[in-house]
Amino acid sequence: MSKFNSLNDLFIDEIADLLSAEKQLVKALPKVAEATTDRQLSAGIMAHLEQTKGHVERLNQVFESIGEKPQSKTCEAMKGLIEEADELIGESGDPAVLDAGIIACAQRVEHYEIAAYGCVRTYASLLGYTEAEQLLQQTLDEEAETDRKLTDLSGQINAGALSAVGSR
Ligand code: FE
Ligand code: FE
Repeated sequence: MSKFNSLNDLFIDEIADLLSAEKQLVKALPKVAEATTDRQLSAGIMAHLEQTKGHVERLNQVFESIGEKPQSKTCEAMKGLIEEADELIGESGDPAVLDAGIIACAQRVEHYEIAAYGCVRTYASLLGYTEAEQLLQQTLDEEAETDRKLTDLSGQINAGALSAVGSR
């Protein structure tokens, strides 16, 4: 039986993928926050953990708003991004260099989410799912704001990484 016969089918598949992605992040973020030595970065990641729990809740609401039971489908992309972050966290080295690497991993995650939420928000709009569109837009805004905060933090942390003793 073919699965993708309408934009609605694609919409449901993609929000199921996002629900998996957000749930994976809820599990992964505490470990990432713990691995950072920069207080602001660690606090920022923990703040985003709370937002991420809200993203899971919003996706459940999106499903409900269109009369569907919440469903999740393993997001392989997020699995890979988290694996790469885990790998970095397991390495030793200069703390500032590792923190810079953690920001790079975190920004990959946010950009992935921004791309995915941008698509599903647009599908919701095209399908006339007003409530879903608003919910998805709220999360999209929070992901974009998080990305901006990471960019702000990277200024000081990248400078620290650049002046690390063992560099070059
Ligand atoms: Fe999120
Ligand atoms: Fe996020």
